[in-house]
Amino acid sequence: MEERAEDTKGQFNAEMTEMLRCKRCNLPYVSSRSTSALRLTYCSLFCELSDLGFSMDALEHMQKNEPVGADEAPKEPVAID
Ligand SMILES: [Zn+2]
Repeated sequence: MEERAEDTKGQFNAEMTEMLRCKRCNLPYVSSRSTSALRLTYCSLFCELSDLGFSMDALEHMQKNEPVGADEAPKEPVAID
C-alpha cells in the first residue's frame, strides 16, 4: 500500500487551496499565487493590467509620487511698471 503525501511541506493553509476564477481569463487559480494586487479578482498582474488598463500598484505609486499642489506655488503678483 502506498499513500500519497500531498502536503509535503506540512503546511496546510486554507487560503492556499482556495480556488478562485479570474475575472479576465476565467481560469481557476489560487489566490495566494496571484501576482495581481487584486488577487481575489485576477489570477495575475497581466490580467489585472489587461482588464483595468492599469495596475493598482502603479496607480498607488502615481498618487504617492504626484506632488499635490506643488506646482501651485503662490506667486507674488509681479508689478509691471
Ligand atoms: Zn487571469
